[in-house]
Amino acid sequence: MRRCRRGAALMFELQNYLAEISGFDAVSLQPAAGAQGEFTGILVFRAYHLSRDDTDRTEILVPDAAHGTNPATAAMAGYTVVELKSDERGNVDMDDLKRKLSPRTAGMMLTNPNTVGLFEEQIVEVARLVHAAGGLMYGDGANFNAILGIVKPGEMGFDFMHYNLHKTFTTPHGGGGPGSGAVGCTAALAPFLPGPRVREGQQPGTYGFFMPEQSIGRVKAFHGNFGMLVRAWTYIRTLGEAGLREVSEIAVLNANYIRTQLDALYPPAIDRICMHESVLRGQIAGAQGVRTLDIAKRLIDFGFHPPTVYFPLIVPEALMIEPTETESKRNMDRFIEALRTIAREAVETPELLHNAPHNAPTRRLDEVRAARKPILRYDREKFAEMMAE
Ligand SMILES: *Cc1c(COP(=O)(O)O)cnc(C)c1O
Repeated sequence: MRRCRRGAALMFELQNYLAEISGFDAVSLQPAAGAQGEFTGILVFRAYHLSRDDTDRTEILVPDAAHGTNPATAAMAGYTVVELKSDERGNVDMDDLKRKLSPRTAGMMLTNPNTVGLFEEQIVEVARLVHAAGGLMYGDGANFNAILGIVKPGEMGFDFMHYNLHKTFTTPHGGGGPGSGAVGCTAALAPFLPGPRVREGQQPGTYGFFMPEQSIGRVKAFHGNFGMLVRAWTYIRTLGEAGLREVSEIAVLNANYIRTQLDALYPPAIDRICMHESVLRGQIAGAQGVRTLDIAKRLIDFGFHPPTVYFPLIVPEALMIEPTETESKRNMDRFIEALRTIAREAVETPELLHNAPHNAPTRRLDEVRAARKPILRYDREKFAEMMAE
């Protein structure tokens, strides 16, 4: 019993911490990942509009730089996805936004800083326009680690957002599952949140679970991915207010350090001070037939896990570098040196890149086959067979 009460206390505190850090009124810890948090948010948008007999809103606006889960979420929730262009500074194109807002707009999904690693400079005006059209603002919180303790999404004009607890509040930029896509929102949307949520009981120090009055229901069994909640709570308690702010300050500083050390060799997608990540292009001057994939594979030979490539989709030959707050200067310098060496090789000995990695047990994997015919159980003989191929 006692253990159970402590679990509820931890959830209650985590709800409050997340609400405070993000500037929202209510939090639900149910969703299992960012993508499920998005789905939850868009279902809440729908429930909100329908509760007001506002039945003609069928469209969700999504910028062309968005993570693939954003349009997938809107489509899965039954909405028509309306794509918004980005402008030459990497922000949402305001003219395109104005053209596409209408009485059909249910809401907009936006990541800030966005997936190009840039702060949306017009965020307040974007939110004002969407609200004026009767729409709601969904914040994709996957890049929250750039702004902790500096600015709150709730104050930027977002109505709802997901936290990727497994990214921002434990393992910088993911690192695999399990996940938690807790969600926060304004008081107006709180009645629709999934439950159970936790609230304080009559007696101080007691807690109870409840379903919000107009809840969209459960989205996950039990109490979400509870283990991830414990990790996030611990991370927040350990760092405290000043520590969380430092996470973002260092993450942003590190990303800009790497960007300025490499941008003469790897042209930036947009030449602007970046936030927690910078998107460069694997288009090295004087290199023939070398692609970002070759550069990424060659990095393995230098002992580095390659960064995200070919995302965001609007940047040709994208190489997205996010050092996070945890990398030491020494590590970043080794990484920068490796990419400088690779840029030289790309011009002088491009075959070294085409055949990379040289030091790994496997070279280029057949990613299509891996997706279509996944082998989910380890089979020693089969593995030996594959290695011999
Ligand atoms: C990771 C990520 C998501 C999805 O989160 P998951 O927890 O992987 O489902 C959504 N948007 C952005 C920008 C992300 O980086």
